[in-house]
Amino acid sequence: MQSTLIRDAIIVTQNGKREIKRGNILIKGNRISEIGETSTDADRIIEADGNIVLPGFINTHCHVAMSHLKNRLDDVDLQKFLDLTFKLDSGRTPEGIYNSSVLGISEMINNGITSFADLYYSEDIIARAVIDSGIRGYLSWVTLDRKFTTQDGDTPDNAEQFIREFRGKDRITPSVGIQGIYVAGDDIYASASEIAKKYGTIIHTHLAETREEVYNFVKGHNGKRPVEHLSDIGFLNENILAAHSVWATLREVKLMAKSGTKVSWNAVSNFKLGVGGVPPVPEMMANGITISMGTDSNGSNNSLNMFEAMKFSALSVKNERWNPSLMKAQEILDMATVNGARSLGDESTGSIEAGKKADIIMIDASMPNIFPVSEENAVNSIVYSANPSNICMVMVDGKILKETGKPSPVDKTGLKGKVFT
Ligand SMILES: [Zn+2]
Repeated sequence: MQSTLIRDAIIVTQNGKREIKRGNILIKGNRISEIGETSTDADRIIEADGNIVLPGFINTHCHVAMSHLKNRLDDVDLQKFLDLTFKLDSGRTPEGIYNSSVLGISEMINNGITSFADLYYSEDIIARAVIDSGIRGYLSWVTLDRKFTTQDGDTPDNAEQFIREFRGKDRITPSVGIQGIYVAGDDIYASASEIAKKYGTIIHTHLAETREEVYNFVKGHNGKRPVEHLSDIGFLNENILAAHSVWATLREVKLMAKSGTKVSWNAVSNFKLGVGGVPPVPEMMANGITISMGTDSNGSNNSLNMFEAMKFSALSVKNERWNPSLMKAQEILDMATVNGARSLGDESTGSIEAGKKADIIMIDASMPNIFPVSEENAVNSIVYSANPSNICMVMVDGKILKETGKPSPVDKTGLKGKVFT
């Protein structure tokens, strides 16, 4: 079993006490073995020399196969965005889906994202890109009503088949997804719940993203709002990962909290699509909802950049509530790491602790945009000052996927001239 020693780092552990330690990390195989004053010998030594080492970011909402669509779906509202996306989706090839996924995964690795949760059809093809690239993928096959889908066959059947085929595979956790209440009826919610229960998976879905979506639903459901309805039909539980939830009332927040529903906050995508609101994050936190952070797709973001997501999310709430002390840097970093792991039902990653999987990134603390860094300001440095160019090492499952001075993953995959549609 290969051992790796990361020497002399500022370690932002994200453990239960949120300890920050100066010292070494010993990795054996794909697991973290010791932290602090560990042995100084290993098969491979990485000199951190005072750089920040932290758990890799966990992106809990993405559509990675849309990565080639960056800067092509801009400056339109969600309805127009979805119309264009659905049209583009219908003409795609397996080769294009694979190449676009490799492109997005390469961007994520470059930016320090070590796990991502995806919502799309053709997750079997995306899974191959995950296997080939070395990243960790939580892949949810999307279900929706037959009249709205471009998928062949029944969407819940497709999701179930995908889960059967990919469960138990390294670095892949298959699950079922639902596009959202605007294209999925109660029977889809019931089928997805059944599949999730049968295979012990999460259900990844969009929920209460725009005011229009909520109002259209209310009109057709005797004044009942989407979260209220999903609560009434018994859909909400601790295995639901709801992306956005911008337009949730306090009553809905309480229903989500009571059921254990998790929320993925996608601030950059929401603002770019002009959804007009900020999710009630302080209220969600006060009620104990686990909030994680997502980028959404390159179509609506347009970058898979968790530094941008962290800073932007924090600032949006501070500004909206006229309160700069709301959303502490530590709370934001929790959303991008440990909370992500909890939301995906897999806490084997998300923190640097003995026994956890070695999904670790390193930030170059000597660069001018972040210098000077100490144990005291390391978390703030990550959230408010760092950017992807500071990432000097990315490790997933004990394997180094990016290192300064080595060719980037995009160069390695040679994406130039390939088919993406
Ligand atoms: Zn989305």
